[in-house]
Amino acid sequence: MSTNLMMDDDTELEGLQPQVGPASDEYADTAPESPIHYNLRTMSYSGLQTLLSCEKKYELSRLIPADTTEDNDENGHLDFGTIVGNGIQELLIHGDMDKALFQAFLTWPDNLESDRGLKSAKTFWHAVQAIEKFTELMYGPLDGYELAVFNGKPAVELGFRIDLGSGFVYRGKLDALLIHKVTREFLPLECKTTGWNVVHEAQYANSAQAIGYGIVIDAVAVGMAVEYNSYDVIYPVYKTKAQEWTAFRFPKSNTSRAKWLETLILDVMHIQQYAEWKLFPMRGGSCFSYNKPCRFFSTCTMATNLLVSDPKYIKVRYDKKEDYPLEFTFEELVQAQLDKE
Ligand code: SF4
Repeated sequence: MSTNLMMDDDTELEGLQPQVGPASDEYADTAPESPIHYNLRTMSYSGLQTLLSCEKKYELSRLIPADTTEDNDENGHLDFGTIVGNGIQELLIHGDMDKALFQAFLTWPDNLESDRGLKSAKTFWHAVQAIEKFTELMYGPLDGYELAVFNGKPAVELGFRIDLGSGFVYRGKLDALLIHKVTREFLPLECKTTGWNVVHEAQYANSAQAIGYGIVIDAVAVGMAVEYNSYDVIYPVYKTKAQEWTAFRFPKSNTSRAKWLETLILDVMHIQQYAEWKLFPMRGGSCFSYNKPCRFFSTCTMATNLLVSDPKYIKVRYDKKEDYPLEFTFEELVQAQLDKE
């Protein structure tokens, strides 16, 4: 299950180790000679959210290992969203609540009675309740849908990777791809959890996250011999305090995908420019969020070369091929777009 609104950048690092090349089951760096560190060239939706909130935070979070001895999730935000997502995927695959809850149990990283997350209603037992309540959507607005199948497997956690050139890649994962049992219309599903009491469609309607899913749909549509021109995306959002699901549904067009691809290239150009200027801008408006200061607060004013170790010791996290089975180049996607017009 992908990141929820509470999650931070997905490429936080775990420890200083001498850099080693990718294993045979990992994607290689296509531009090992690039002066820009690999970690700054691997993009994702959550990574771009960080970049757009504060470029300095993007740079430092990808080059400085996080302190793994420190509990950075004392409110249980990360565990909760992941566990709820895992349970819902299992529920969609098997339609069996026992299996869904067992999956949630297997992936819960804390003891079941831990009161971490109690204040924000994000304990394991709250996750169980969220999964159980998902049936209100599953047998309500989603009743006419079933999971699509890709390469003989249920279409959950489908990872894709786009080679943007100059060693930059964008990676994404689709929570689940549904297909209508009668009309054969695709419906990507992206689960979210939030501590907000009020959710508004404006929080999700123009999110770029779902636009990339059209690429996954293209691949699945070919395999399933289904034709489509546009698709809707559905965001089931679980409000943890009210303990209820709200679903938002938005149409996505092929035109929006073309603009999204162009925007990715602009993002690449920005990162290249910051790296060339050796200046990732600081955005003071982002220093305090989710009730805590940024982990670089009070250090990010120092020169980066005083904060960041020798690049050869910065751990590189190569993508596993099995996590991102769908691989495209930017040119392929542009050509596919032109073919549709
Ligand atoms: S403390 Fe503020 S300016 Fe510094 S990296 Fe974090 S968000 Fe950016």
